[in-house]
Amino acid sequence: MDIYNQDIKFLAGVGPKKAELLRTELGLSTPEDLLRYYPYKYVDRSRFYYLHEISADTAYIQVKGQIVKFEKVGEGRNQRLTAIFTDGKSSIELVWFKGIKYITENYKPRIDYVIFGKPTAFNGKYNIAHPEIELASKTPPADQLGLQPYYNTSEKMKSSYLNSKALQKIIFPIVQQIKLGIPETLPAYILKKFALMNLTDSLVNVHFPKNADTLRKARQRLKFEELFYIQLSILRQTKWRDMHSVGFVFPIIGHYFNTFYKDYLPFELTGAQKRVLKEIRLDVGTGKQMNRLLQGDVGSGKTLVALMTMLMAVDNGYQACIMAPTEILATQHFVTIQDFLKDLGVNTALLTGSTKPKERVPIHKQLQSGELHILIGTHALLEDVVQFKNLGLVVIDEQHRFGVEQRSRLWKKNSQPPHILVMTATPIPRTLAMTLYGDLSVSVIDELPPGRKPIETLHYFENKRQALNGFIAKQVELGRQIYIVYPLIQESEKMDLKNLEEGYQYVQETFPHYKISMVHGKLKPAEKEYQMQRFVSGETQIMVATTVIEVGVNVPNASVMIIENAERFGLSQLHQLRGRVGRGAEQSYCLLITGFKLATDTRKRMEIMTRTNDGFEISEADLQIRGPGDMDGTQQSGMPFELKIANLAQDGKMLEIARNTAMEILDEDPQLASEENLVLAKQLSKLNTNTMNWGTIS
Ligand code: ADP
Ligand code: MG
Repeated sequence: MDIYNQDIKFLAGVGPKKAELLRTELGLSTPEDLLRYYPYKYVDRSRFYYLHEISADTAYIQVKGQIVKFEKVGEGRNQRLTAIFTDGKSSIELVWFKGIKYITENYKPRIDYVIFGKPTAFNGKYNIAHPEIELASKTPPADQLGLQPYYNTSEKMKSSYLNSKALQKIIFPIVQQIKLGIPETLPAYILKKFALMNLTDSLVNVHFPKNADTLRKARQRLKFEELFYIQLSILRQTKWRDMHSVGFVFPIIGHYFNTFYKDYLPFELTGAQKRVLKEIRLDVGTGKQMNRLLQGDVGSGKTLVALMTMLMAVDNGYQACIMAPTEILATQHFVTIQDFLKDLGVNTALLTGSTKPKERVPIHKQLQSGELHILIGTHALLEDVVQFKNLGLVVIDEQHRFGVEQRSRLWKKNSQPPHILVMTATPIPRTLAMTLYGDLSVSVIDELPPGRKPIETLHYFENKRQALNGFIAKQVELGRQIYIVYPLIQESEKMDLKNLEEGYQYVQETFPHYKISMVHGKLKPAEKEYQMQRFVSGETQIMVATTVIEVGVNVPNASVMIIENAERFGLSQLHQLRGRVGRGAEQSYCLLITGFKLATDTRKRMEIMTRTNDGFEISEADLQIRGPGDMDGTQQSGMPFELKIANLAQDGKMLEIARNTAMEILDEDPQLASEENLVLAKQLSKLNTNTMNWGTIS
């Protein structure tokens, strides 16, 4: 068998239909793909249990024994089959809800079987539902069964009899074949340096482990290989880009930047803002394209850094634009920037979906003539009619809200790509950034402007409504404004609206003397704008909203953020929402309201939120709780690759080692041309043709 090229439909137990399913559902089309489809868990069948050993935390067990008798219980659709099963010392109930006829016809009392399944407690007694049953005489000795692999399959596959067991049967003979040895994919010196298991043994043992120890070593090797090649690929890309990239040069710091800095800036820059501006200044002076990610917690002053970077572009005769994910945010940027710039003489314009055609025409014209210096807007900037004379810098705010495709459309607006500054207030843990944004330079604003008091976060259960209302009243009397946010579930938008509207009504009835704004995603932009504006201007005291206010909105006088049904928000979303307050000089509060019964994870989220305001600490915790696949920001933008075996939350240390190793190798042999590195070049080109273009990660 040619494991690299052979079509899997010719394998025993596959055939055209199942081959097609494997391809469409899992992306597997060669035996090698199957070998690289690793089990997601293993179940220990290396020993037989006695039933009296079962305890509350017993996972899967196998037991030798006999069925004493069957019994059918209930009628029709509620019918189930039970059996008493004994191991000679004690007994347990087996239960079937489906396939009753098959079971009674094929299995008989008083015959030695091996059953296998997961005991669950019901009414204080244990039972096993739908156990696997095999004739004891046909079951190999336990020490030959070992750890059994379990594979993820889809519903569609299961309904075509392609379940985990079937996959195991398909993969087994392939594993037998490769036992003779397949070509190694890591150089010998790496295997030696880190005492890694070779590829053949690793693949054999990851599917059919001899024991727990060989499994650990096999997984170790495969994880390392996975992380190492990702890093090698990213770093080589970076090197290549460093050598070949051409970018506009902004040689001078000129009139606009200097005047703004000296005469217009209403406050001192923080140390972190100064440091980041220096980093950017260096980038745009090199003649290479800047590709920089700016991470900074909510309220850390990223907008100002963006504005001053845009002034660098303008000083050098280029245009700049900033794109934000929502109309509210773009509008606010526009207002903020105009406030900052006053009469400096920089021409700015706002372009969003609701900009009237009449207003668009002059904007388009002035962009093409170069009269317009800075364009601020939403997705509307991406439209083909939006053409610049000489776009030198693109800033993207809340970059994770945009898809890779959308973002890259912006820098295709020039024949020579502009400098790029992407900003995010969703801090990404180091390990994730190294993988996800391995080819971006990263700047961090890790300091808030002075004078901010840390936000006090409290967790309230729903039954504390009275106290909560008292608190709201007191804050409003002190002249503060209040946000009350309701969750938005995508599955049932109607219901959300009801939640929000009921909430609105409740707030109105409870505080009849206060004025209230309500904002949600279904409002027309003009209405949204009006409601927002009433809150911004202080006309309304309370803003009832869904998460549309999550990003960017800046109302320094708002000092209380109340999050209803806080259990329905992720950590980073909670943190983002909290960032809407604490922007003024007053003490601010974030109140998380939940029901009384909470899942462990939810409890943890509340605990973390009340403990810390540090976005990086929160995102690390988020990564630990949820795992990297679900991280906010990675899903929308799409991970550029999928990890099959490594786990960024657990394997951070290994990732660093893999990265350092890749770096050392590329420093010594950038072309990967030496004899011992040939295998790297070969494997890399194979992997790269299988995945998407790394160059578009940013
Ligand atoms: P974010 O990083 O969340 O985008 P913003 O740029 O909106 O933060 O800044 C939050 C607030 O802090 C704004 O009102 C801004 O004017 C103010 N700000 C920014 N930099 C400073 C500074 N160095 N000193 C004082 N206030 C600042
Ligand atoms: Mg911002």
